[in-house]
Amino acid sequence: MTNQKNDFTSWYIDTIQKADLMDYTPVRGCIAFKPDGFEIWEHIQGEMDRRFKETGHRNAYFPMLIPENFFQKEKDHIEGFSPELPWVTEAAGEKLEERLALRPTSETMIGHLYSDWIKSYRDLPVLINQWANVFRWEKKTLPFIRTSEFLWQEGHTAHADETEAREETMRMLQIYKEVVEDFLAIPVYDGEKTPSERFAGAVDTFSIEAMMKDGKAVQAGTSHYLGTKFAEAFDIKYLNKENKHVYAHTTSWGTSTRLIGSVIMVHGDEQGLVLPPTIAPTQVILIPVGPWKKRPEIIEKLDEIFAALKAKGIRVRLDDSDQSPGYKFNEWELKGVPVRLELGPRDFDNAQILMKARDEADKVTLELDIDAVVATVETELTTMQKRLYDKAKAFREEHSHTDVDTLEQLHQHITEKQAMEEIPGWVLAGWCGDDACEEHVKQETKFTTRNMPFNPPTEKKVCINCGKEAKHTVWFGRAY
Ligand SMILES: [Zn+2]
Repeated sequence: MTNQKNDFTSWYIDTIQKADLMDYTPVRGCIAFKPDGFEIWEHIQGEMDRRFKETGHRNAYFPMLIPENFFQKEKDHIEGFSPELPWVTEAAGEKLEERLALRPTSETMIGHLYSDWIKSYRDLPVLINQWANVFRWEKKTLPFIRTSEFLWQEGHTAHADETEAREETMRMLQIYKEVVEDFLAIPVYDGEKTPSERFAGAVDTFSIEAMMKDGKAVQAGTSHYLGTKFAEAFDIKYLNKENKHVYAHTTSWGTSTRLIGSVIMVHGDEQGLVLPPTIAPTQVILIPVGPWKKRPEIIEKLDEIFAALKAKGIRVRLDDSDQSPGYKFNEWELKGVPVRLELGPRDFDNAQILMKARDEADKVTLELDIDAVVATVETELTTMQKRLYDKAKAFREEHSHTDVDTLEQLHQHITEKQAMEEIPGWVLAGWCGDDACEEHVKQETKFTTRNMPFNPPTEKKVCINCGKEAKHTVWFGRAY
């Protein structure tokens, strides 16, 4: 396997293939999710879906094909998305009168329908989410992180006024933050995007940003306040309590299968995947060792442990194949299984069993008592989840720099880190609000604005580029 530190991207591609999460297809940028890869998504999906429903949202489904004229209605939206739209131009051997785009996102189709569905203040709010695939024809692709077709959810809500719509925008960003931090064990910075990084057609875009092990950022989720822009474009008007026709205020918010890529890039190590127990397709692997085939009581005992763990709702597997124990250890470590239990004749005779957590160096000896083993494994799964979060957070803190104030210092910072073969990470810097300053920093260093965090560790006084008074404090970093 490729060394993670020397060539992070190759390590990533090697790992996801060897761990059997995905495969390439003849369609460029479109990948197949193999069962383990898809199951990780199902667990993420399950948790998100539960939180959406808890906050009053319901799922619906909208068509994948969108008429071209829908895109013309909101000019920022078409400008932002047109370069990456794939089009259907003929069907059943005949040229279509109007081209149909494969949806890059569904604001237009949903806007068109909401204008029909929303007539009165009594129809509001509309709180709908869609689980779907979308298409954005990308030039440079990386499985899970950036693909031409990907899976995601997109929430689309409509509200009576700005206050309610803004509350919704923040509520969903907070849910994203909680799921990514608590469920995926990935710490994030939440904040507002700069105007140049806004979603095409949004009034304000907010994001959560996560740091990968190579120091690059992944925008892990976004929530947009759309104001009345889409309502005006698609005529989403309602009769308010004062008997006046007014525009609804809409929001949209999304997270995608990039989260799978993020989990791998945040927690993975030289041995392969390290999966948080919450999303691991296999949480516990049982492996018989030594000359276990001559001692049937070993497999019987493992079967009992298997049943007991399964009864507790733990996703457990028993590997009784004829591969060597060493091979199996490597294989299941590569797949990122959180906990391994090994039982051989000597341990059996001593009434003990060995436990190894994926992210820890040492094995632990446990008493071979079913109830005690189950209790210890349950505790271990919980503590490992917390441990992974703490490690990721410590890593992010170590590589988040707040002592860079000028472009010259940023150049120097990058050069120094390179010389030490260390990652440059992110820097917190001031920004005057001028797009040109943001663009210049990007051209010079490839550092882009990640977001303007709600709770920055410190407030910056001067713009990193022009030295004028800073209006905002911004995280800058290289990004996927
Ligand atoms: Zn400036």
